[in-house]
Amino acid sequence: MYDHRKLGRELGIFDTDPLMGAGLPYWLPAGAIVRHTLEEYVRESERRAGYQHVYSPVLGKRELYEISGHWSHYQEDMFPPMDLGGEQVVLRPSLCPHHALIYRSRSHSYRELPLRIAELGGMYRAELSGVLGGLTRVRAIQLNDAHIFCTVEQVAQEAGAALDLILRAYDALGIVPVRYQLSLPGPGKKYLGDPQAWRRATELLIEVLDKSGVDYESAEGEAAFYGPKIDIQIADSLGRESTLSTVQVDFHQPEQFDLHYIDSDATKKRPVMVHRSIIGSLERAVAHLIEVHGGAFPAWLAPVQVAVFPLSDAEVAPANAFVRQCLDRGLRAEVVVEGSLGARVRAARHVPYQAVIGAREATSDSIALRLRDGRRLDALPVNEVLSLIGAQVDARSHLLVQEEEV
Ligand SMILES: [Zn+2]
Repeated sequence: MYDHRKLGRELGIFDTDPLMGAGLPYWLPAGAIVRHTLEEYVRESERRAGYQHVYSPVLGKRELYEISGHWSHYQEDMFPPMDLGGEQVVLRPSLCPHHALIYRSRSHSYRELPLRIAELGGMYRAELSGVLGGLTRVRAIQLNDAHIFCTVEQVAQEAGAALDLILRAYDALGIVPVRYQLSLPGPGKKYLGDPQAWRRATELLIEVLDKSGVDYESAEGEAAFYGPKIDIQIADSLGRESTLSTVQVDFHQPEQFDLHYIDSDATKKRPVMVHRSIIGSLERAVAHLIEVHGGAFPAWLAPVQVAVFPLSDAEVAPANAFVRQCLDRGLRAEVVVEGSLGARVRAARHVPYQAVIGAREATSDSIALRLRDGRRLDALPVNEVLSLIGAQVDARSHLLVQEEEV
């Protein structure tokens, strides 16, 4: 495995500057493309799964987090409050309280449930500077978050569907978890909510795990302060484990925010909140993808998908024309002119598709693709080359070509 802190900088994914501050990396153009592509993937799968997207501010009044319980149970991880005109505002440590308020802003009938609210939004964590590095321990986090407001009877189905979304995403991204964990409360820590609700939430998560067929281990002391969770663990290049994705069942925050829906008998009932994240934070997800793929991302995620090398000045114009066609097809392509052909091929070793344009290609309007794994394809008309690459990218395939094409 690779170390994303080194390789991520070499690939132009991210960097840091002491003046911006520790734990506050910025995204370079290649990293912004990977992140944007991931965000599009997440939003698309959420839309298909019936989620509605919202945006909410990254700040909130201190009182909001007092109600949610973050102020009493999570304060050491939060930035200190800012005094503003007699009130205190804080950078949010999670999105849940905002989504609870968004739910509460409208009345809801049982017919609207499950109501799934999703947001790719910022949150902040006051990590100590000693533990910061790269994209894995950061103070500003972009979280792929969602909260499902539903009845108790709907929890297992919704949490199970969320787990399916996670497994499908891992498949598309080439991520293999090291462990599935049922994170339970443990001794010596403080938790909020009544013990019976905790037992019910735990039973529901066990039901989801058993039904999904994944092997899992229970871990005491790893629950959130408001409820138990399923954590999907990955390991970094040094073998250190961290949680990427999570599914949590929460009876506590709906109580705190006095959430309700109108049931079929016209009475007010309390919904349950299922918190879930498919790929966790964009920072941690991209760090992991760099380490897993060593920079050779699946073609659909690659910052540059097609590198085009004109052999001489005479082929620069046809090379530019091919790049134009790639861009029109929605592919990310660029012409590389500097250096010997060998040097250009080496520099583009992470680019999934490479095209050398010589005199023959320029006059025949055909291209013999090279793949980054060293394979070479027979020359094909340009439009066939575009559909071949486009089909693999659209399918978010791990294969650079359909096997019968080589
Ligand atoms: Zn949440």
